[in-house]
Amino acid sequence: MSMSDPSTPIRVRFAPSPTGFLHVGGARTALFNYLLARSRGGQFLLRIEDTDLERSTPEMVDAILNGLTWLGLAWDEEPVYQSKNRSAHVAAANQLLEQGHAYRCFCSKEELDSKRRKAEEEGRAYRYDGTCRGLSPDEIENNLEANKPFVVRFSVPQEGITRFKDMVRKNVAVQNTEIDDFVILRSDGSPVYQLAVVVDDMTMQVTHIIRGEDHISNTPKQILLYLALGAKPPKFGHVPLILGSDGKRLSKRHGATSVLAFEEQGILPEAMFNFLALLGWSAKDNREFYQPEEIIKRFEPAGFNKTPAVFDQDKLQWLNSQHIKALSASELLQRVQPVFARHDLEEAFTAAGETVNLNALTLLQEKMRTLEEFATFGQYFWVDPENYSQEAVERYFQNADEARKTLSAVERVLTSCDPFDADRIEVVMRDLADEMGVKAATLIHPVRVALTGFHVSPSLFDMMAILGQETCLRRLQNAVAYLKS
Ligand code: GLU
Repeated sequence: MSMSDPSTPIRVRFAPSPTGFLHVGGARTALFNYLLARSRGGQFLLRIEDTDLERSTPEMVDAILNGLTWLGLAWDEEPVYQSKNRSAHVAAANQLLEQGHAYRCFCSKEELDSKRRKAEEEGRAYRYDGTCRGLSPDEIENNLEANKPFVVRFSVPQEGITRFKDMVRKNVAVQNTEIDDFVILRSDGSPVYQLAVVVDDMTMQVTHIIRGEDHISNTPKQILLYLALGAKPPKFGHVPLILGSDGKRLSKRHGATSVLAFEEQGILPEAMFNFLALLGWSAKDNREFYQPEEIIKRFEPAGFNKTPAVFDQDKLQWLNSQHIKALSASELLQRVQPVFARHDLEEAFTAAGETVNLNALTLLQEKMRTLEEFATFGQYFWVDPENYSQEAVERYFQNADEARKTLSAVERVLTSCDPFDADRIEVVMRDLADEMGVKAATLIHPVRVALTGFHVSPSLFDMMAILGQETCLRRLQNAVAYLKS
């Protein structure tokens, strides 16, 4: 059946276990499912797989929901909590038992452990040997009467092949003899992931499942469960792993992996959206920069790559700088406000007034790679530099006498610079350079250091006009005083 068959609306889900933050891998899985739903007018559902009650916490659920919300991945319908569906899972296990698709296994842990050890010693892959598969009704009855603990195992067909057409990996086929009679209910009666996930996906009428390649060995088992429960399996897509720049699987060793940590670094959600979408997918149009709506429009499972995706921090920064440039001044103003608040620059920001703020942000916009940089590197638009960077001092304040004389001369001509706009400031400073018989750069560099604390900045004359005469003169005097000391 074609995936765009309008008679079967697409329903996908993101099914995180709330035992940690929303990390890059999970966010990418959520995003691909979201893209499939949104590009086909389908539904994107959320299921919290909280059956591990010891490790799942409400804080982690919130953290995951916040991460999704930040990324702009709005879900449809109320989130489903897997722990609430336990009775449906158990009912499905009982149905499978009754229909002969599952059986009670009374083997003790010790027996199984010793069989596993033996297999290891003999260099064989361990698989449950089916001891309890053929128990007679009497044997089962006796064991139950003796209160022998048991698990419920799925009875995997002993012949045949389980096949599926993966959206990423194309044709996948596994011999059923390779699949263990896996446990579906533990001895305490609790459902195992394989069963819970299938029953919930059936209840939620999920049509497509995109998830990480680490789940691919679960898929044949889950397909067998669907078939045994009389349901049509959904379509699956297993996206390749995400690797760090060293070629190893992405982990905390590679730095931040929690999505909200990127927000703290000043990454825009649309840049993260863009970046994550390209981790294992491409529109094949030789572009990298897209707004979320453009990705939704272009999204096709045919664009999935089979090769592992590499998490490239520089590329994220580059994409972020492109998304920063794409913002209108007023949008940018809104986006930086919380960042300024975090850096205690809120008061100075408000005091500067909207015109100065908009002009300053527009000027910085060309250079900044993160929102954070507006408040760190760009803070001189709002507060006097507290010190001068080591590199700036080494480059332009090394000869203190000379720098001091230069800055005093600039201060003198700027005092009578009228109007104090970029053009006039430039004329005044170039005239001064001529008068002193030096290149304009000889004045420009130390002035930049005095005004910003750094040896690089956006266009100096524009910046000076935004700072205003009073601030420029004050900072020049401060630098002169610093150079005297
Ligand atoms: N809770 C599982 C996980 O986080 C979901 C797996 C699935 O998508 O089936 O890995």
